Amino acid sequence: MSMSIEVLIPEQDVRDRIQEMADALSEKYAGGEVLLVGILNGSVFFLTELAQKMSIPVEIDFMAASSYGSGMESSGRVLITKDLERSIKGVHVVIVEDIVDTGQTLHLLTEMLLERHPASLEVCVLLDKPERRKVCMDADFIGFEIPDAFVVGWGLDYDQKYRDLPYIGVVREQ
Ligand code: IMP
Repeated sequence: MSMSIEVLIPEQDVRDRIQEMADALSEKYAGGEVLLVGILNGSVFFLTELAQKMSIPVEIDFMAASSYGSGMESSGRVLITKDLERSIKGVHVVIVEDIVDTGQTLHLLTEMLLERHPASLEVCVLLDKPERRKVCMDADFIGFEIPDAFVVGWGLDYDQKYRDLPYIGVVREQ
């Protein structure tokens, strides 16, 4: 079986939209400081571009989570395989993620981070697939809403490949 990748969102459109999101974040947190929390590995490309385009000081930190249980466990669980290096108590935190799909990962991570008493907690995603949602999860900053298709690029992978594509593409298997 061969596969091809069809461009869904061209590179310049992605970069322009990230600039808009960076402007919105810079305005929202103007005069203060914000910690961008990236979820590994998918958030890396989006987070670095976003941070570089913001006009206010930012700090960054990362978490890694592997979610499991959608088939075998009805509640869905998330295993933290790498935690933050620092305390977020009293800190303005923005979780940065590549995509919100079923919503399970971000829903659970948000609950977990709220227990650590940040000053505020918002969620910023490059892509949103609202049709696939299983649990309530509304991101505060959304780059693009996309249809229910499997996408790659900007950190999103297909079998660990294509994360480095500078556009968002749809995988077509033939
Ligand atoms: P959730 O279903 O919202 O918990 O999303 C879990 C993870 O699935 C995301 O962080 C992505 O890493 C991955 N994912 C969801 N949709 C796609 C896709 O279209 N392409 C690649 N990875 C995806």
